[in-house]
Amino acid sequence: MVSQYRLGKSQYLKRLLHIWHLLNAPCSEITESISRAQETELPFWERLAYKLHLLYCSACRRYVRHLEALRVALRRIAGELRDPSADAPVGPKLSAAARERIRRELRY
Ligand SMILES: [Zn+2]
Repeated sequence: MVSQYRLGKSQYLKRLLHIWHLLNAPCSEITESISRAQETELPFWERLAYKLHLLYCSACRRYVRHLEALRVALRRIAGELRDPSADAPVGPKLSAAARERIRRELRY
């Protein structure tokens, strides 16, 4: 029983240290969390840590805006590739040959 208590306490302290680290994470780690959040659901503490970080870090807020702009641009391009006749109001205009090349590459 004593060893279980020690193990539990150790895990508890480990978790506290992990949370402390997340709350004090440098921008490089926060931007990794932000990027991963685009693809998967982050654990509660990691999500909380990066959202708190964004409250005071303008560089990471700018990173989020750039990431969102990139996502919008990629969706627009993907839409153009799916429907080559669609005329996107803003964004890169690709020739039909370029669209076909990209379409072929994306298939494989
Ligand atoms: Zn930051």
